[in-house]
Amino acid sequence: MTPPAGRHFLQIPGPTNVPDRVLSAIAAPTIDHRGPDFSELTLEVLAGLKKVFKTDSNVIVFPGSGTGAWEAALVNTLSAGDRILMFETGQFSTLWCAMARKLGIEVDFIPGDWRHGVDPAQIEARLAEDSSHQIKAVAVVHNETSTGVTSRIAEVRGAIDAADHPALLMVDTISSLGSIDYRHDEWGIDVTVGGSQKGLMLPPGLGFNAVSERAVAAAKNASLPKSYWDWQGMLDTNPGGFFPYTPATNLLYGLREALTMLEEEGLDAVFARHDRFAEATRRAAAAWGLDLLAKDEREYSSSLTAIVTPDGVDADDLRKVILDRFDMSLGTGLGKVKGWTFRIGHLGDLNDLTLMGTLSGVEMGLDIAGIPRASSGVSAAMEYLSAG
Ligand SMILES: *Cc1c(COP(=O)(O)O)cnc(C)c1O
Repeated sequence: MTPPAGRHFLQIPGPTNVPDRVLSAIAAPTIDHRGPDFSELTLEVLAGLKKVFKTDSNVIVFPGSGTGAWEAALVNTLSAGDRILMFETGQFSTLWCAMARKLGIEVDFIPGDWRHGVDPAQIEARLAEDSSHQIKAVAVVHNETSTGVTSRIAEVRGAIDAADHPALLMVDTISSLGSIDYRHDEWGIDVTVGGSQKGLMLPPGLGFNAVSERAVAAAKNASLPKSYWDWQGMLDTNPGGFFPYTPATNLLYGLREALTMLEEEGLDAVFARHDRFAEATRRAAAAWGLDLLAKDEREYSSSLTAIVTPDGVDADDLRKVILDRFDMSLGTGLGKVKGWTFRIGHLGDLNDLTLMGTLSGVEMGLDIAGIPRASSGVSAAMEYLSAG
């Protein structure tokens, strides 16, 4: 293979492409994280994050991956042997469940088919049965990155309220935050888990917990062991603009720039842009004659689309052809859907032509791999994008 000219097309659903503005911001000299300039940076970033989470509560920023932020959510609010309710939407909910079990939490894991989101009716039924309130929390994934299915979190909140149950509500928004509408306060979320490398357009390395007052109160009695992930040190030092240990200084520069970019475009415009890219991608899939993994149109994800390959076609062979020939990375099938699905990430820093380049690469890849298609998905997507 000759080294390719031009940019690599990184169209996996995270990490996403980092805008030049953010990369430049990250390249600034590292400063004293106990000095006065640093506290200004912290306070600015924390204020900006609240707008993205849509909360007046605190957002805690950890140097770490999204997985670390999952752990922080659990260990700060729960004790060994506590019961929680989770829902099998796909690979990420499965991994979060496995983590909870490793930590000594008893998980009721409601089975799912990896083609649907959280069923609010099943949440309500499980909670209604739990009249002695043994279930301490409901923990779900907003946008299941392995399947391209977005759960209706406002309805999950409604289900908990309908059962009149005091369980905390924890939501993983790692691949939806900054791409798909999400409302921490309005939906009564107790812990929202986020990460830097998807809709927030940063490199990997930051994990977030937005924490309600109820969550902070629950933390007072939660006895799972924690040290690095302990919220308290953050809550004590953040108001002055500092952290209990060295934060990821340069990623915070990048975060400040990314938050500025989201604010300049306007969150509603950002969400509409993602909706539009997702619709164009679905039209391309329909024109190719390929099925979506997501079965319910109310749950189509705006940040990625998972596509099913025809019987007998290995989706990873197609991905390899596209990587080798066109220097584009697409998301592999994860867990139970490996081998017969691939994922197109359309979140973060992209525009109409980035998407068209992506879909063109897929269409040419289908042809080179000899995978039959009904018609041109590229034409269908162009028609849609050029119309409005
Ligand atoms: C990416 C992702 C994670 C894992 O985040 P890491 O930074 O890889 O630890 C968890 N949940 C969802 C929904 C994700 O998309």
